[in-house]
Amino acid sequence: MNILLLGSGGREHALAWKLAQSPRCDTLYAAPGNPGIAEEAELVALDAADHAAVGAFCAEHSIGMVVIGPEAPLVDGLADSLRAEGVPVFGPGRAAAQLEGSKSFTKALCDRAGIPTAGYVHAASLEQAMGALDRFEPPYVLKADGLAAGKGVVIPETRAEAEAALAGMFGGQFGSAGAEVVVEEFMRGEEASLFAITDGTSVVPFGTAQDHKRVGEGDTGPNTGGMGAYSPAPVLTADLEERAMAEIVRPTVAKLAAEGTPYSGVLYAGLMLTEDGPKLVEYNCRFGDPECQVLMMRFAGDLVEAMLACAEGRLADLPAPEFSGETALTVVMAANGYPGTPEKGGAIDLRDAEAKDAKVFHAGTAMKDGALVANGGRVLNVTATGANVTEAQATAYEAVDAIDFPTGFVRRDIGHNEIRREAE
Ligand code: ATP
Repeated sequence: MNILLLGSGGREHALAWKLAQSPRCDTLYAAPGNPGIAEEAELVALDAADHAAVGAFCAEHSIGMVVIGPEAPLVDGLADSLRAEGVPVFGPGRAAAQLEGSKSFTKALCDRAGIPTAGYVHAASLEQAMGALDRFEPPYVLKADGLAAGKGVVIPETRAEAEAALAGMFGGQFGSAGAEVVVEEFMRGEEASLFAITDGTSVVPFGTAQDHKRVGEGDTGPNTGGMGAYSPAPVLTADLEERAMAEIVRPTVAKLAAEGTPYSGVLYAGLMLTEDGPKLVEYNCRFGDPECQVLMMRFAGDLVEAMLACAEGRLADLPAPEFSGETALTVVMAANGYPGTPEKGGAIDLRDAEAKDAKVFHAGTAMKDGALVANGGRVLNVTATGANVTEAQATAYEAVDAIDFPTGFVRRDIGHNEIRREAE
């Protein structure tokens, strides 16, 4: 079967690598892709925002499945447009993708389905949001309602800071994403991510992970798209995972189906493991980046089979997804300046990094005059496996150290919480 993969990050490189391993994959196309993806797929210049062009490409190239990597085309309804033309798609339609695209949609769904999450007020005006602060204790959790590329959440410690932040949000700081704001109760606990795949009816767990969002060591400094991750997340024990599936993920999928907007694809639940059990922080309607890279290192099945079963409503017929018992850990090599203005064009020599038992997924790279250069904030995802986080981390950093990327940087402490626990 011919497959079209949309996206250009490390997440999509990991998906391309795994899709291409399937005996069911004939030609894999990727748009727009990157130099790493080009080793697995034929790159095509397609704009995911141009639904008609993507549909025409699928017809011309006998595409049997489209895999949509990032959230923007999902929230934009690309899956609906392609399904209307009879193309199987891995990823939810516009209505269900609101789980990521609108925080107030998700909060209201949690209310209707009795899903454990932080208490909240949805405010459509500055006045309403200011009033909502009375109902919560500091620290305050303030979220722009729409997609804000992971930057729409602020957690001020004081009332004065919260009021100033709200004024900024309603003043257009996040564009239209901040026209409505959700004010939430602060939840205490450790965060972990749970992935599930679903065809709209059947839902099965698809691995766990933890990531490091802050740019600096010790989890300090500004937020990023993620500086590293590992899977599985030992804090999300089998019991907690089953509880989160039973109390959060399955009721969400069931409610969306019952309301006529079934969700298919991967559902990524950001969880807070509180004293009262797992609570939902947020949903994403796609794989995490860089969490996908560590999941793909461990996934032992046929990714084409699994995704196609979701796209065609046959997940119940498939055996449960299997993952290797090893730990996978990925270290993000970022360009100097990230997450502000990353330096573009810096030379990269991968040397023999992959000989160190690691897999180097490309994120923001490009080819310039036949040589590999940095072309974005997060540039490479150096990924390794091991018996535990400590071992996987050691192998990943050996490979990082083999790479010559003078205008880049890494965090040297990916997995530190777990490594501390493993040492105890
Ligand atoms: P991203 O998709 O990049 O994770 P986002 O903009 O969709 O971010 P959330 O995931 O909802 O936003 O929140 C970002 C982070 O803020 C969370 O990962 C968590 O650390 C913190 N956070 C969000 N809501 C709460 C809450 N109610 N209590 C405590 N911390 C919270």
